[in-house]
Amino acid sequence: MSAAEDMMELHWLFDMLQHIDVGLVVLNEKYEIKLWNSFMENHSGVSSSIAKERSMFDVFPSINSEWLQHKLDNVIALRTPIFVSWEQRPHLFPFNSYRPITGMAEKMYQNVALRPITSADGTVKFVCMVVYDVTDVATNKESLSNANRKLDYLSKTDPLTELHNRGSLDGTLQSTFERYKREGGKHSLVMTDIDFFKKVNDQYGHPAGDLVLKTIAKILGGSIRKTDFVGRYGGEEFAILLPNTDAAGALFFCETVRKKIAETKIKLPNMDISVTMSFGISEVKKTDQSKSEWLSRSDEALYKAKEGGRNQSVVSSAT
Ligand code: GH3
Ligand code: MG
Ligand code: MG
Repeated sequence: MSAAEDMMELHWLFDMLQHIDVGLVVLNEKYEIKLWNSFMENHSGVSSSIAKERSMFDVFPSINSEWLQHKLDNVIALRTPIFVSWEQRPHLFPFNSYRPITGMAEKMYQNVALRPITSADGTVKFVCMVVYDVTDVATNKESLSNANRKLDYLSKTDPLTELHNRGSLDGTLQSTFERYKREGGKHSLVMTDIDFFKKVNDQYGHPAGDLVLKTIAKILGGSIRKTDFVGRYGGEEFAILLPNTDAAGALFFCETVRKKIAETKIKLPNMDISVTMSFGISEVKKTDQSKSEWLSRSDEALYKAKEGGRNQSVVSSAT
């Protein structure tokens, strides 16, 4: 190849590197900018003539200099490339990204490769930074994981009361039961049901019934501790799991909540109404073979509370 052809090829290469849709920066050992291609100019608004010879950290004070210097020093010392993905760090350079779909400006997500540049004599005195715009990949992935989170929430939540649904409750009850089998402890399960709820629907209509359910759900949800778990078991029946709580503690809890509910005025368009609830309590036992045995004891206790006149709490007497 002739010298002229060599020159031509170099010219082409240089032109392509200037206009490639990837950021290219070359730094020396003092982190001074030696090359700044048009991708970097366009996205930073800093022209090559201004960027060159200045320290990267002067041009971009927001970059965590301690962290990046450590990486750059390693690239030079070990002569090996280092990659920084958007998942580790959404961006290195604070560039805006104008999303065509939403029209919103947000930050450009970046993958960055730091590559040693080996001189003819084998030494490494420069590092090349290659900056890839991965905003599309990152936002797609993020919106997918947001959608999955939402789906997961919906699959575990009762839409009317926004409490855990039965499936979610079964899962938590199962894991609490398994933990009990391994570690022991005292855990209680409460089943609770609104008294004469059919009458509420019959007298005031279904929407009023729904409002009662939401009000009860709020009271139950607001009465529990962080480690407790309340779910809508079905219709107007709720289950409350109280880990590390014996039957006496659970009874105290139920009585407090029961009184609070009985005293609560629920505002309907034309009048205030109130409802009462019955509570059945049981503590998990050594002889329980499954969570269902535990649950049916709570159910039996609830049945006794209903039989006994409702608006009361009963602890299972099963031995
Ligand atoms: P008890 O004191 O023995 O519990 O009597 P009850 O009337 O509460 O019991 P019953 O099981 O006979 O009635 C439950 C009613 O709950 C019947 C059903 O229409 C109503 N219900 C179930 N789910 C919903 C709901 O999502 N919204 C409304 N408004 N009502 C519901
Ligand atoms: Mg009922
Ligand atoms: Mg019922």
